[in-house]
Amino acid sequence: KGKFYQFMMRTRQPAGLVSNQLYLVMDTLADKYGNGTLRLTTRQTYQLHGVLKEDLKTVFSSVIKNMGSTLGACGDVNRNVLAPPAPFKNRPEYAACEQYAQDIADLLAPQSGAYYDIWLDGEKFFTHDMERPEVTAARMDNPHGTNFEGSPEPIYGNVFLPRKFKIAITVPGDNSVDLFTNDLGLVVITDPASGELQGFNILVGGGMGRAHRNNDTFARMTDALGYVPKEDIFAAVKAIVATQRDYGRRDDRRQARLKYLVQEWGVDRFRTVTEQYYGKKMQPFKAMPAWEYKDYLGWTEQGDGNLAFGVFVQSGRLKGEMKQALRRIIERYELPVRLTPEQNVILCDIDPQWRNDIISTLQSAGVRDVPDIDPLDRLSMACPALPLCGLAIAEAERGLPDLNKRIRAMMSQQGFADSEAPVVRVTGCPNGCTRPYMAELGFVGDGPNSYQLWLGGSPNQTRLAEPFLERMKIQKLEETLEPLFYHYKQARKPQEPFGDFCTRVGFEALRKYSKSFVGK
Ligand code: SF4
Repeated sequence: KGKFYQFMMRTRQPAGLVSNQLYLVMDTLADKYGNGTLRLTTRQTYQLHGVLKEDLKTVFSSVIKNMGSTLGACGDVNRNVLAPPAPFKNRPEYAACEQYAQDIADLLAPQSGAYYDIWLDGEKFFTHDMERPEVTAARMDNPHGTNFEGSPEPIYGNVFLPRKFKIAITVPGDNSVDLFTNDLGLVVITDPASGELQGFNILVGGGMGRAHRNNDTFARMTDALGYVPKEDIFAAVKAIVATQRDYGRRDDRRQARLKYLVQEWGVDRFRTVTEQYYGKKMQPFKAMPAWEYKDYLGWTEQGDGNLAFGVFVQSGRLKGEMKQALRRIIERYELPVRLTPEQNVILCDIDPQWRNDIISTLQSAGVRDVPDIDPLDRLSMACPALPLCGLAIAEAERGLPDLNKRIRAMMSQQGFADSEAPVVRVTGCPNGCTRPYMAELGFVGDGPNSYQLWLGGSPNQTRLAEPFLERMKIQKLEETLEPLFYHYKQARKPQEPFGDFCTRVGFEALRKYSKSFVGK
């Protein structure tokens, strides 16, 4: 027999919503055709690793026939649209996020039938048949030249986008989606009295991917673009996508993300060009409250009498007894779930009477509830990296448990409480899939056992970190971090987070302190 080529399949899951039926199908596919595990990603999707080439069609068609999809999960198109995984049923602002995540995913979905020709032999099984008529109308609408006339792909034409495009939607104050790292960020603005949706604040030009030793590439946070009323949101999104489509660099993939266009032009020029496609002026950005990091782990009242339970899944890897226990619960109670941008899963629509059974089933599988999770684990993320990602040059997921143990040991030795933890994020290469450039302690793979160390992000992911060390062998973790933690313990302000401390003190002072540190 010839070579056994294997593939990774990624799903499309706007707002991380997964039906009960699809969850069970994915769980079965992982056992039957994958490597027996499921990976939850930082973009609220599944990755199924280890699918053999000969099984691809069976796996894809199973997903599509069970109301899942992989359309637009890869490629130079809009990728999965994020929204808070908040399980609330009585909060219209969160309902609006869900609705518009789905709508915008539909608006920007590739329209070619090739997807169905390949995976379903042309059978018409459009999982986005459910799209709202106003979304279809908006896709075809072309008053200001956003569309390619007569093309089966009205927005993408035959050129598609210069590079992938990432969108997140959230409510003011809820940064569970790492809003500022997206090409396009939307924030729902609602009427304070009625909760009714009024419009959207729009941010543009974020992105994490960069390359080592190439300063023309960089991580970037979004800029505020403006506000549009809700009836204009599809036109505004199309205008932004069309601007990137027509002006984004196509001669160099490393310069092709929207962030480079926004950086080169400045946000004001970007707005002016976008407004030509939009056909109107954008309104000034609306004021918003401070951002909070939220992960929705543990028990939450949904507001409709039912409960939700957020399950911590380290690095999003569902496997072994945890995977089996979740399947038993989800199957028995016919629960839908939500995948979170922090690689966790939330069991939804739980009748309070089922709570005790669910707790004991999870406990017997060793699944930890919030009080038993080390906050270091809870706040940390790692990408798949070796051996699963072809771009990986260092460990991430496999190395994270040990890395966290070593950081916890250092912090305990220096007298930090167990409840204290910086946000740790690890990637196997500078692409930055787990958004390490927003972390308080970011480890970016640079070679075997070697990482670039980034410091200075904030706990609510509103500030970019900066590279503190170009190269750190993982064997030198203690030697590198002990002086920093010691200085932090001695000189921090009350309750000051580690990232804030590093930024306030400055890297020069930190380096000087590290050099003079002789062990305390
Ligand atoms: Fe792969 Fe790099 Fe992304 Fe990790 S950060 S999953 S190594 S591309």
